Amino acid sequence: LGMIEEVEPRIAQATRQELTDQRASLKLIASENYASLPVLATMGTWMSDKYAEGTVGHRFYAGCQNVDTVEAVAAEHARELFGAEYAYVQPHSGIDANLTAYWAILAHKIESPALEEFGAKGVAELSEADWETLRRRFGEQRLLGMSLDAGGHLTHGFRPNVSGKMFHQRSYGTDPETGLLDYEALRAQAKEFKPLVLVAGYSAYPRRINFAKMRDIADEVGAVLMVDMAHFAGLVAGKVFTGEEDPVPYADVVTTTTHKSLRGPRGGMVMATAEYAPSVDRGCPLVLGGPLSHVMAAKAVALAEARTAEFRTYAQAVADNAKALAEGLMKRGAKLVTDGTDNHIVLLDTTSFGLTGRQGEAALLDAGIVTNRNSVPNDPNGAWYTSGVRLGTPALTSRGFTTSDMDAVADMITGVLKATKPTTTSAGAPSKAKFELDEAARSNSLAEAERL
Ligand code: PLP
Repeated sequence: LGMIEEVEPRIAQATRQELTDQRASLKLIASENYASLPVLATMGTWMSDKYAEGTVGHRFYAGCQNVDTVEAVAAEHARELFGAEYAYVQPHSGIDANLTAYWAILAHKIESPALEEFGAKGVAELSEADWETLRRRFGEQRLLGMSLDAGGHLTHGFRPNVSGKMFHQRSYGTDPETGLLDYEALRAQAKEFKPLVLVAGYSAYPRRINFAKMRDIADEVGAVLMVDMAHFAGLVAGKVFTGEEDPVPYADVVTTTTHKSLRGPRGGMVMATAEYAPSVDRGCPLVLGGPLSHVMAAKAVALAEARTAEFRTYAQAVADNAKALAEGLMKRGAKLVTDGTDNHIVLLDTTSFGLTGRQGEAALLDAGIVTNRNSVPNDPNGAWYTSGVRLGTPALTSRGFTTSDMDAVADMITGVLKATKPTTTSAGAPSKAKFELDEAARSNSLAEAERL
């Protein structure tokens, strides 16, 4: 940091402070983790300075031999770790990975047959009229993904997101009674809507998915099954999710981030069957430009780490810790969506403490516990205030927290929420944002966070 200090002290200071903050508080954000020093160090090198548009051995720039090694090693680790036929490690983020996947699916299912029909070898040869027809066909395609308030992601067809604009979209929810995925309701919806793409995967659903059932539904309606395993890739890598809970053998295309439970650098990846590989391989120029060579290198290091026995132990501990956290919360009176968890996520309904998600999130932050507010199914408080906080165990498990530590964390969380009271707005109405947190409860929690 000394070198940075000389150039821009404010950045050195913010970086130093971030380290202090991330170590002093309890990081329960389900999508965050602590990447290892080898992963962090790999990102901070001159590999960043190289342009390498294209794919391994087929670049639009000279001098890419070292980037070729990096990309090939990262893809090899991804294929072997997940048992995938093909892996594409260039996407810069989860959103990029999903966009790459969507356009690759459109290229394979819509563009290639159209080119054949129009007698063209590539889009450059299309007449204006053919090109218009092709564009219209792209725009007519349908996508069915999980709704945001049931736990899906913005990129699964949320209308304000590009995925909800490039496709005609519909969303599936969860059972209003149990909060669980209802496969038969989904089957009926898919049969009626007939999507080109059925997306499975989530950001805030605290349960495992049965991908054999998802495959069956996709097959019944002739849809491509795409699974976004961004959140639970670490549990798949660590063999906690196996058999029908492992998406790779069932999906046509699997996308992921590399920085959540997988514990790598910030980034994305797409895996696919051999059938979709040529289309995904065109991520650049479909969606991407130059890959982040230094980040691909760090992905290779993280994927190598994820192939170890230590990582399997870690992944199992992530799931065990989530269960211990959920049980600790419920035995202290908290209401959880689906009454528990069997992955790394716990979704706590803050209304059982008389609070909005926003009040819960802010009070917990004041008390040294970092979470994020999150909608619950059919949330009466909308996406801004929400009625829940999402908790996740990947980061604390990386710090060595055990199930008994998680019980102590559950005690802190319920202690803080019980000691938080909503207050009124300046007009005297009940506020969805303002709150008062009892000072003794706050300082107890801060001391406990420090101790843990
Ligand atoms: N997919 C899912 C399921 C996610 O939860 C997220 C991130 O929250 C993403 C995609 C997007 O990842 P990124 O933030 O790297 O673009």
